Amino acid sequence: MNHRHNFSNQTKKNLASAANFRCVRPGCCQVTHFFDNSSNKHVHVGNAAHDIPANKGGPRGEIYDDVEIDPNQVKAYNNGAWLCCTCARLVDIVPHLFPVGDLQRWQTEANQRIKSSVMHYPSNSISIRDACKAAKLFCSYLRDMRFESYIPHDTFCKIGHLLQVSGILDPVNELCTLYPHTLNLQKQTLKILWTIKLDVNAINSPWHFDDSYRGYILSQPFSFDPRDVQEKYRVASDRYKNLTAEFFRLKGALERFSIGQGDNSANELW
Ligand SMILES: [Zn+2]
Repeated sequence: MNHRHNFSNQTKKNLASAANFRCVRPGCCQVTHFFDNSSNKHVHVGNAAHDIPANKGGPRGEIYDDVEIDPNQVKAYNNGAWLCCTCARLVDIVPHLFPVGDLQRWQTEANQRIKSSVMHYPSNSISIRDACKAAKLFCSYLRDMRFESYIPHDTFCKIGHLLQVSGILDPVNELCTLYPHTLNLQKQTLKILWTIKLDVNAINSPWHFDDSYRGYILSQPFSFDPRDVQEKYRVASDRYKNLTAEFFRLKGALERFSIGQGDNSANELW
């Protein structure tokens, strides 16, 4: 069986819609769709990835040797996952890290999360106790994030995970405190983490993997490097310092709120 069993356009649309047009790989959650008002068009940059590959020669293709594969099963919704371009490439170039079953599971879990956030209605009011509980849970995701002279890879994974589970603080999300004051602190925290993530991953970023590949380091230029290189480092370094200082300030405020020592204005604003 060497010809490809591709998904139909309808199946691709279903996978994308079920994932809310976001990558379903845990920790990624990259948006894969936007509406371009100037051309009046929807733009998609996601991929419908196959769990069991579309043909025997594809990644994870060994499964064809082990069991009888029905082509309809390969083309079916249940064999797919909606991924961003980077994750789609990743699962194909290192398939041994993503055995058959992973992609299907990601798709199912993402869809279940989206469904439950819609089906679960918030109550009309939220108690301070519930808000503290949500803040405490939110802070638990921030607890082991380390932002020192370098950012461990582990912190990066934690940022991705938090961005995903927070549902960008949808009111029905269990991490959402709902109090305007603390919700604002939460949103600012997520924005800072997102900005750090983008800065590090940017093209021509002065951030690089450290020698042991365990994290990212802001590479200090050599003394003979041109002035623009020195300047780029200085700007990136100042920005990182400001962002991390603000991160720890917000984290501290949320932690105090979660243990009942928050600013009383949280109550008043509500
Ligand atoms: Zn992704």
